[in-house]
Amino acid sequence: MAYQLSHEMFDRYLAALSATHRVFAPVVKANKNKLADLDLITYDEVSGADQIIWSEKSYFSPKEIFYPIRETLFRFVGKEAFVPEVDQKPMLILLRPCDLNGIDRLDQIFFNNGVSKDFYYERRRKLVKFAVIECTEGFDSCFCVSMGTNKVDSYDMALKYSGDSITLDIKDETLVPDGYSFGANEDFELDFVKSNKTKVELPDFEGVDLNQVFGHEMWKEYTSRCIACGRCNTSCITCSCFTMQDVFTDDEKMLSERRRRWAGCHIKGFSDMAGGHSFRDKNGERMRFKLMHKVYDFNKRFDKHMCVGCGRCDDVCPEYISFSKSINKVAKIIQEVKHEK
Ligand code: SF4
Ligand code: SF4
Repeated sequence: MAYQLSHEMFDRYLAALSATHRVFAPVVKANKNKLADLDLITYDEVSGADQIIWSEKSYFSPKEIFYPIRETLFRFVGKEAFVPEVDQKPMLILLRPCDLNGIDRLDQIFFNNGVSKDFYYERRRKLVKFAVIECTEGFDSCFCVSMGTNKVDSYDMALKYSGDSITLDIKDETLVPDGYSFGANEDFELDFVKSNKTKVELPDFEGVDLNQVFGHEMWKEYTSRCIACGRCNTSCITCSCFTMQDVFTDDEKMLSERRRRWAGCHIKGFSDMAGGHSFRDKNGERMRFKLMHKVYDFNKRFDKHMCVGCGRCDDVCPEYISFSKSINKVAKIIQEVKHEK
C-alpha cells in the first residue's frame, strides 16, 4: 500500500503512529559538530516531517538507538543481581539502504557469531522496524554500489521525499494506526543509487599468501598518520565491539553495576589482555586489522562483506585517512602479488 502525503498529512500520520511507536530519523543538532559553531546531523526522536533531514547523510549511524553507547547489563544490590528493564514501545527508524544493510551485518554478529544470541541486543532489536528513505544520488564518500549495498528488498516501510510531498509504501500493517485512513492508493517503486563518485575495487584474496598483505609497507603510512581517535569505529554502522566496566555506586560497595560500552579496534588498549599482553600496538596494524575484518574475514564467515560503503569513516577521520582508498590500495597490492607469481 502506497500513499502520497503532504507534510501536514505526514505530521498527522506521525502523531497517530506515536501512540504505538517511537519514530527516529536524522535531525540537526545546533552547535554539536566537532568543529565549533557548526551543526551536527545525527539521529533523534522526531514528531514531524520538517524535523527530518531528508537530503544529507547523518554523521553517526542509527545503531545507537538499539545498541546503546553505554548499557547497564545488570545491577547488584548486596548479594542480589537485577537486569534493568527497557522501554517496550516499538520503534521505527528512518534510514538509507546502506544502513539497513549495515544492520543486517550487526545482526549477524550479535545473533550468529557466538554460541547464543546476544540477549541485550536482541531484546531491543526485536522492537525495531525500518523505514527506508529512497536514496538515488548518494554522497561524495559513499561507495555502496561497489559494496552491493545500494539496494534493499526487506523493509517495513519505504519513503520517497520530493520537497512538498512524501510517498509512503507500507509493508508492515502495524504501521497503519487503528482506524487511520490515508486516502487514494499510489503506484510505488523504490529507486536506488546506480553509481557513486567513489568507487572501490574489492581485493580478490583467492590464492594469495596473506603474509604478503600483512607484512606490506603500506600499513606504515597509517602508523604515522592515524591518531587512534576511534572516530572511524564509533561512526561505523557495522562496528559492534564493546568492552566491560564494573562500577561501584556506594562507598560500602553494596550497590554496583556491570556496563558494556562501545570500544573500537583503532583505540589504544582495545587488545590489552590479562598478564599485560597487548596486540597491534602500532596504529597501522590496527588499520590493517579493521580493513581485513571489513572486507575479508567477515565475508569468509558470513558470505557478505561487513563494510557497506556508507563512507562515514572517510567523512569523520581528522587525519583525512580514506578507507575506500585503502581498500583500493590493497586490491592493487593483490594484483601485483598475483602478477609476480
Ligand atoms: S568501514 Fe567505513 S564505509 Fe564501511 S560501513 Fe564502516 S563507516 Fe561505512
Ligand atoms: S578516524 Fe582516522 S585517525 Fe581516527 S582512528 Fe580512525 S583512521 Fe585513525
